[in-house]
Amino acid sequence: MAAPQIPRVTEAGAAMFSTFGLSDEQLAMREMALGFAREKIAPRALEWDREKYFPVETLREAAALGMAAMGAREEFGGSGLSRFDAVLVFEALATGCPSIAAYLSVHNMCAWMVDAFGSAAQRRAWLPRLASMEVLSSYCLTEPGCGSDASALRTKAERRGDRFVVNGEKQFISGAGAGAKDHLYLVMARTSGDGPAGISALLVEGGTPGLTLGASERKMGWNAQPTRAVSFENCHVPVQNLLGAEGQGFKIAMAGLDGGRLNIGACSLGGGQAALDKTVRYLRERRAFGRSLDEFQALQFRVADMATELEAARALLWRAAAALGAGAAGAATLCAMAKRVATDAGFAVANDALQLHGGYGYLCDYGIEKIVRDLRVHQILEGANEIMRVIVARDILGASRRHE
Ligand SMILES: Cc1cc2nc3c(=O)[nH]c(=O)nc-3n(C[C@H](O)[C@H](O)[C@H](O)COP(=O)(O)OP(=O)(O)OC[C@H]3O[C@@H](n4cnc5c(N)ncnc54)[C@H](O)[C@@H]3O)c2cc1C
Repeated sequence: MAAPQIPRVTEAGAAMFSTFGLSDEQLAMREMALGFAREKIAPRALEWDREKYFPVETLREAAALGMAAMGAREEFGGSGLSRFDAVLVFEALATGCPSIAAYLSVHNMCAWMVDAFGSAAQRRAWLPRLASMEVLSSYCLTEPGCGSDASALRTKAERRGDRFVVNGEKQFISGAGAGAKDHLYLVMARTSGDGPAGISALLVEGGTPGLTLGASERKMGWNAQPTRAVSFENCHVPVQNLLGAEGQGFKIAMAGLDGGRLNIGACSLGGGQAALDKTVRYLRERRAFGRSLDEFQALQFRVADMATELEAARALLWRAAAALGAGAAGAATLCAMAKRVATDAGFAVANDALQLHGGYGYLCDYGIEKIVRDLRVHQILEGANEIMRVIVARDILGASRRHE
């Protein structure tokens, strides 16, 4: 009998697909995304970070391969992929650069929201251009006065005849301004009273009079994509740009985030895996006390723990992706669990990788410190990890109360 194949846990994702019974199509898709990350993203990732350059032309190349509207239906230019397929692709892309993969994740989330909640006319108008990334998109929920407590948002959209007049400010908007006029902003705004039921989602085109952009924020990481404030002053938006029904905006925003959380978790795993792979190579090459570093058991154990943490997080992320794709009860809670675990694991592994590179890990040219900087924000955005605990605790404690 042939010896069982031992999965290799140190090459980007080589092991991760060995036991879940992935189809040939999924394996090919993942190979394609890994190849794109290796050839088109990784060689320039440090330069883009240093120059704070947002490589729209490279994003459009990814779009041409079907990676910009993965969850949207094919009829309108989407790729019609499952949630599970998407996390495979995002993890693979992030091995090249977490910041680029993460912007693609935001854009994919917006495209999915247009597909899932848009009218036929909205889908026809926007999806083909989102799928090709001729139009870039941004998700606009956070405001200067509220992030975690998003349903307290104050941006107002007042109905006047066939228009909404929008006034307010959004903060921390990923990708904002990058597509100039060819940009779509999914804006959550208040169309009636307080609370989540007063919020609606609007599609606002870049270049609409009254929409202005703040300066590109100076940040710790994610330098290969801009983050800006987006302000609205008497910004007139046609009523046909309402996404879904009036008052449904908060639900739409949260539905988008379920998938977004999976994808950002996958980006953390890709970044962590890339850092681990670099570390394994480094430990083999670097010598101290007459031996290569990989001969020290303390470091071997560290590598074992890093690989184990990533694999455990991956298993949970895949389970959450399968549950969300199947529309299973409790899927949103699983997504919150997986987002927290995967983003914590990715960051911890990257930070350990930096330590195991010694002083060289701290130098920009080795590419490790960039991964650490990029992954740090994944613990904060798409719902901070504390809020992931709030969601899980609410579900579990609420459920236990209901059973009393
Ligand atoms: C680089 C970057 C890109 C971003 N991109 C986008 C984007 O594209 N679109 C968008 O809409 N937003 C975006 N965000 C915003 C991001 O989602 C928010 O920063 C995040 O939700 C946290 O909100 P906050 O910053 O207002 O922190 P706060 O809500 O003020 O929270 C501060 C701290 O308190 C904790 N906290 C808050 N409430 C509770 C609670 N009930 N229990 C326990 N702890 C709590 C938080 O976890 C956090 O640690 C981005 C942020 C960054 C940094």
